[in-house]
Amino acid sequence: MSRLIVVSNRVADLDKPGGASSGGLAMAMGNALKESGGIWLGWSGRTAEEDGEPVFSEVGDITLARVDLSRQNVEEYYNGYANRTLWPLFHHRIDLTAYEQSFRDAYLDVNRTFARAIRSLVEPDDVIWVQDYHLIPLGRELRALGVKNRIGFFLHIPWPARELFVTLPQHEDLVWSLFGYDLVGFQSNKDLGAFTDYVETELGVDPSPDGLIDHFGRKLHARAYPISINPGEMVELGKSEAAARSEAMLRDRAGEEKIMLGVDRIDYSKGLPQKFAGYERFLERFPERHGSVRLLQIGQPSRGLVEEYRNLGDELAAEAGRINGQYGTLDWSPLSYHTQSYGRDALAGIYRAADACIVTSLRDGMNLVAKEFVAAQSPDDPGVLILSRFTGAAEQLGDALLINPYDKEQCAEVFAEALDMGRDERIARWQALNDSIARNSLTDWQERFTQDLRGTTHSGAKAS
Ligand code: UDP
Repeated sequence: MSRLIVVSNRVADLDKPGGASSGGLAMAMGNALKESGGIWLGWSGRTAEEDGEPVFSEVGDITLARVDLSRQNVEEYYNGYANRTLWPLFHHRIDLTAYEQSFRDAYLDVNRTFARAIRSLVEPDDVIWVQDYHLIPLGRELRALGVKNRIGFFLHIPWPARELFVTLPQHEDLVWSLFGYDLVGFQSNKDLGAFTDYVETELGVDPSPDGLIDHFGRKLHARAYPISINPGEMVELGKSEAAARSEAMLRDRAGEEKIMLGVDRIDYSKGLPQKFAGYERFLERFPERHGSVRLLQIGQPSRGLVEEYRNLGDELAAEAGRINGQYGTLDWSPLSYHTQSYGRDALAGIYRAADACIVTSLRDGMNLVAKEFVAAQSPDDPGVLILSRFTGAAEQLGDALLINPYDKEQCAEVFAEALDMGRDERIARWQALNDSIARNSLTDWQERFTQDLRGTTHSGAKAS
């Protein structure tokens, strides 16, 4: 099998103790690379005077290649174009989108740095798989350096609606750069549809039924590949000591109280103010439930260097305090809000202790927490998944209780419905959800993408 080169903003610490278990993407890429051998290239996380050359580290058949970036590029490419332009725009927050030319220049500059590094490593039969919005132009930059290999791209975040995407200066250029790839993967049919809408309306091209788009002298396949988890891994994590500890601690403390759980990065895309508002409405409408339920919200700190994230963190802490002040009693607090990050093993126990999990994303490429919660449940007494219809996961998890997080009344009612749901219905829904996850695991996702990439009609110079 041809060697694989994976490129992403950061390289997982597969060469450090515990690094192999650091979550979804790391696992998927680690597995893909283990199969065929290969290279994983990305930013080292360190800054230097100037962008550097790759520094190598070997783990079995996998070479990790880490590149230092200049301080200015980290500020303008990573904190800037990636997290203050593309992230908010692709999550439909044009009110938070920074349209700065200097950010875009740094973005292209870093993509060129990565392209040069790959050019110096690539061999004729290698297949290159680029990950996520940080690196959209990388394929085109590689083509400009004469790289003829098969190159695929997977977007982990949503693709925006055309009316919002066209607010981006040089949006045509960003789309053109996607034609450097042979295969572009999206999380959901909705995202694929939004991209196709742009291609049809702005470029005047009709994709073929299997997603082939012939334009700019290149042949690009665009398809949906919903990412997932390996459910067996969550089951195993659920048996760990850390999981047993966190599960026992929560159950002990909760007693008869039911736990509704939220696990989110503190990010405006996750709809956390809406979750708190829906929960407050639930407390208002159902006073008889006071004392018998608690919302446990884990807020994983994220992107603290970006102002909007800091403001959101402050807002949530204030809201949690206000809700507890208003509804709490001497012996009961309705809302526990922790701004901490937990290991995935402890998290597996937290998922198991919860009676329901609430996902209120206003826009989310997939949402793996929803899938992890399902996989972690015990089959004879599972908890209930309450899932925003605005997640990619909702396309596969239609047996969850789907909500519109903007609708406080609906949220309040669905929270009550989840708490009252009988065991038979919980089991039936859980089985359907779990089957759906098992049918399309993380391993299936990675295999489908790489197989399709290896099999695409190739518009590089090498005959396919
Ligand atoms: N996660 C974690 N520790 C935490 C909170 C979350 O390891 O304290 C992990 C969680 O297990 C999941 C990922 O972070 O794998 C979150 O993925 P998701 O797709 O839900 O959201 P994202 O943060 O990627 O937008």
